[in-house]
Amino acid sequence: VPLADLEAQVSVCRACPRLVAWREEVATDKRASYADQPYWGRPIAGWGSATPRVLVVGLAPAAHGGNRTGRIFTGDRSGDWLFASLHRVGLATQATSEHAGDGQRLVDARMVAAVRCAPPLNKPTTEERDTCAPWLDAELALVQEHVRAVVALGSFGWDAALRAVRRAGWDVPTPKPRFGHGAEAHLRVRGRDVLLLGSYHPSQQNTFTGKLTEPMLDDVLGRAAAAARM
Ligand code: SF4
Repeated sequence: VPLADLEAQVSVCRACPRLVAWREEVATDKRASYADQPYWGRPIAGWGSATPRVLVVGLAPAAHGGNRTGRIFTGDRSGDWLFASLHRVGLATQATSEHAGDGQRLVDARMVAAVRCAPPLNKPTTEERDTCAPWLDAELALVQEHVRAVVALGSFGWDAALRAVRRAGWDVPTPKPRFGHGAEAHLRVRGRDVLLLGSYHPSQQNTFTGKLTEPMLDDVLGRAAAAARM
């Protein structure tokens, strides 16, 4: 299945009743400041290069971010942080990601969400996580031959990435690599090294409190960009 077909297929998925209800409720009620805007209100496909050397794995779309704009990490504060940093390290053409028609482009990078629909309180259940996993697996299968670095955002992204690459038959060190900001693990796929890097999630909870700073995020994404150039 080509990437475009996969995007079309995931965009109509309704496998998780609670998330379908939530994504559509949010899209109907809207936030007052976006009252005049259409909301996407559907699953969010991966986005970026079709031959990515860097794969960024996030948690799930934000209710008024990706669930509104239809593009991952677009139109919310987390995306502002992430794209500003991606731009500083040369992985994005613009420093902002405001809407799907803003001309933003990822350079040799692709972003995916482990769970493709916005969950209440940003917390998918274990069952929802597992129900959505085949979409991540299918996308990974289409792009994995190009990937040199995987950046996992938050412990949820870290675990989702490790589970996905294991299912895809990659070699993962034992014991299981532990998540932390700046943590790294060396994975292997078909005789090739792939660097797994962990970053605190650029959620407002982390960026407002100073747990994640711009230099910290630049450090991790810069290491991914360097791995991509090797
Ligand atoms: Fe489908 Fe994933 Fe959305 Fe569940 S979270 S409805 S599996 S796209």
